[in-house]
Amino acid sequence: MTPQEVLDRLGVGPGGLTDDEVRRRRERYGRNTLPAAQRRHPIVRFLRQFHDVLIYVLSAAAVVTAILQHWVDTVVLAAAVIVNVIIAFIQEGKAEAAMDAIRAMLSPHATVLRNGVPVEVDAADVVPGDVVRLASGDRVPADLRLLTVDGLRIEEAALTGESVPVDKSTAAVAPDTPIGDRVGMAYSGTLVVYGQATGVVVGTGTDTELGRINRMIAGIAPTVTPLTRQIDRFGRWLAVVIVAMAVATYAIGVLWRGHDAAVMFMMAIALVASAIPEGLPAIMTVTLAIGVQRMSRRNAIVRRLLAVETLGEVSVICSDKTGTLTSNEMTVRRVVCGADEFVVGGAGYAPVGEIEPAREDANTRGGAVDVDGHPALRDLVRAAVLCNDAGLRCDEGTWTIVGDPTEAALLVLGRKAGLPVEEAEATWPRVDSVPFESENRMMGTLHTDGGEALVLVKGAPERVLGLCVTECRADGDDGRPVDHDHWHDVAHRLAEQGLRVLALAQRRGSTRTPGRLTLDDLHDGGFSLLGLVGIIDPLRPEAVAAVRECRQAGITVKMVTGDHAGTAAEIGAQLGIGVGKPAVTGRELAELDDAQLRAVVREHDVFARANPEHKLRLVRALQAEGQVVAMTGDGVNDAPALKRADIGVAMGRRGTEAAKEAADMVLADDNFSTIAAAVAEGRTVYDNIRKFIMFMLPTNGGEVLVVIAAILFELTLPLTPAQVLWINLVTSATLGLALAFEPAEHDVMDRRPRPVGESLLSGYFVWRVALVSVLMAAGALTMFLLELRQGTSVDTARTMAVNAIVVAEMFYLLNNRFLVDPVLNRAGLFGNRVAFATVVACTALMLLYTYTPPLQAVFGSTALGWLDWVKAAGVGAGVFAAVEAEKYVVRVYAARKRNRSRRVPDKPAAHP
Ligand code: ADP
Ligand code: MG
Repeated sequence: MTPQEVLDRLGVGPGGLTDDEVRRRRERYGRNTLPAAQRRHPIVRFLRQFHDVLIYVLSAAAVVTAILQHWVDTVVLAAAVIVNVIIAFIQEGKAEAAMDAIRAMLSPHATVLRNGVPVEVDAADVVPGDVVRLASGDRVPADLRLLTVDGLRIEEAALTGESVPVDKSTAAVAPDTPIGDRVGMAYSGTLVVYGQATGVVVGTGTDTELGRINRMIAGIAPTVTPLTRQIDRFGRWLAVVIVAMAVATYAIGVLWRGHDAAVMFMMAIALVASAIPEGLPAIMTVTLAIGVQRMSRRNAIVRRLLAVETLGEVSVICSDKTGTLTSNEMTVRRVVCGADEFVVGGAGYAPVGEIEPAREDANTRGGAVDVDGHPALRDLVRAAVLCNDAGLRCDEGTWTIVGDPTEAALLVLGRKAGLPVEEAEATWPRVDSVPFESENRMMGTLHTDGGEALVLVKGAPERVLGLCVTECRADGDDGRPVDHDHWHDVAHRLAEQGLRVLALAQRRGSTRTPGRLTLDDLHDGGFSLLGLVGIIDPLRPEAVAAVRECRQAGITVKMVTGDHAGTAAEIGAQLGIGVGKPAVTGRELAELDDAQLRAVVREHDVFARANPEHKLRLVRALQAEGQVVAMTGDGVNDAPALKRADIGVAMGRRGTEAAKEAADMVLADDNFSTIAAAVAEGRTVYDNIRKFIMFMLPTNGGEVLVVIAAILFELTLPLTPAQVLWINLVTSATLGLALAFEPAEHDVMDRRPRPVGESLLSGYFVWRVALVSVLMAAGALTMFLLELRQGTSVDTARTMAVNAIVVAEMFYLLNNRFLVDPVLNRAGLFGNRVAFATVVACTALMLLYTYTPPLQAVFGSTALGWLDWVKAAGVGAGVFAAVEAEKYVVRVYAARKRNRSRRVPDKPAAHP
């Protein structure tokens, strides 16, 4: 069918649908969504948790104890298995819920025509008959019959598997044409890679071609990350070592020392039970999930869990300027036209403000200019308004925009100049256009008043000036040859004030194909320059502080922008990026080979007039320099650079769907400072995982040492296997969890980025693990032996040993809240409420263990007197004091090293 037939059949008027009609159609056709992908059933998910080496070992031990009829051990081992599986199940559910919430935040949007005005809606709210606008980078929100196309190219891989973009038109095709050849249609889920179009929705939800094959695209990557894989491998390796150790112990005991086989077997089980780090995988997941949630609260939406870890390593952030470092609230401030220069008043999008002649002498006010009395200015403003895709609206006194803020600023200029916008649009209706693409840095439109054709072009001065042969003068005479040098100087002068500069030009007369405008038509030149406008784009107030914070954190901030070198350098200087060094332009970049480029990225921080492909080269060069790179982007062509970067960052508001899908992280507020916040959270997550491991390994290590010592010195076993399992259960279900909730340490952003590939356990941490293991084992063993010597029963002595270990773990938990900072202060003692709660819970469990008859019956524990508790607390305090003392030594040592390195003279600065 032709477009008009389709519109008629769907009952769509020229202004799109009305609100009433939309409501009626939504009731009839439902929302524009596909059924969610099939979830794994909770029972399946639960059963899957049993698939874990540690669980296998525990289960095997339970079976063997059952055969030996050691029922208590069997029950405790079985309980350990069940509790671990339940914890893992709950944690995984939490992680999935966090990712679901994020998926909801990333829901795509669509621009539709409703009640005659373009509005942005959730793609799920689109109904059949809606007139949708498409621009490059959009995912097509529903199946559309195209009404108008403008260089539209669509990549239909989601549907046809064909990744070469297809040229679209509005032509009707034969009914039996295969999908790939239906050039008049745009299908839901496919990606606009070039151009613009409008189309009317003919199918939504499951009625789309995509719905018919029912495939969800662009899902969020699964939750496996290198770190979790590393931990998994670590766990498996540990299990093998532990089992080997247990077998060796058994063999030595029975074959060499001639012990009773059943007793030795129980010892081996005790060893296995004490060494296995239950809860490790669960804690990993929960720590990452908490990190994701914290980041989303700070407007950073992580699309891949991998990003959480990598963020902690970022050493260079390449940010674009417009809208990320600046507020993207554009206001035209200067207009240069002929020999005259004007200043425009007002701020924001409200069209209040006067256009006055700019004067050297600020005291004489010239008063507002009459635009009608200045033909050149009138033509320039007309071009600014007509060569424009943005929209400006006023709802109850507040002015909002649709589309590109740069263009909206020009619409505001039109209103300030008092230009009758509707009249101009009616006299010179648009026939065709060449949309703005970052690579071209200009856009053109073709208009006609019935007879004559008018081509308008606006864009970066370097581009537009090259197309001009004449210039317009104040009296409207446009025959004088253009003075290129003069205009380049003017453009420079405006740019140096930090203004974003656009040139506008026009040409009368027909195009290559009448009624059509292509990029070639623009390149044909022959334009008459109308003038330049300078637009201010104020800095985001938070950006200055965030750039400083990044520098403090050892992260270099680089600016990569499509804007003029002068503008970029000035804005950079205001932010403290690349101060005193010139900006490198895209053209200069293109002439460098890879080795030279590496040298340039080392030295320079501001890159101007850069294309998406330059971004890709920059990322590569920085990575070759060993940097971990975060790169921002918003356009469809930024996708390769975003994918290549270690952290691709897309803009949530300004960004295209294509960029968001290629990114690891999406900024809900498009704000640079959010990247810095995300880095801080990424570092915190890594810290917390390390803190947990630092907590868990010595607690298991202490128990192992106690058992080994008992075997070596042929002592009575100070802990029974059941007791060892109890300790592990109580502490991993309560205490360990607390560290996942640990807030960021005050100095996370004062450290250098973590070196790439640094292992979780550096030499220093191995030392700390060994130290604490020995201290805990010594404390528990001493308690146990002292009690025995005083003639108390073995049961009481064992109860003492168990309590000593658990109390020591509570104290050590507190130590671990900060890796090297002291914890004996307000923040250290009360900074984490979860830690406080888990200590209370753990204490309650230990009281139950010691005093309730059922638990006494199972574990052989006995009641203790208050003095015994004091002794246990003494062991804990001893461990605590020792670790704090060790941290103190480390701090002093580190401070000395810093001082010494500070005495090395700095490299002389390039610009002292
Ligand atoms: P950035 O977003 O980094 O500032 P852009 O690629 O958006 O860079 O813009 C690069 C240049 O293209 C701008 O400096 C300006 O001269 C020109 N430009 C930007 N937006 C438009 C537009 N809508 N129409 C024409 N030219 C534009
Ligand atoms: Mg831009």
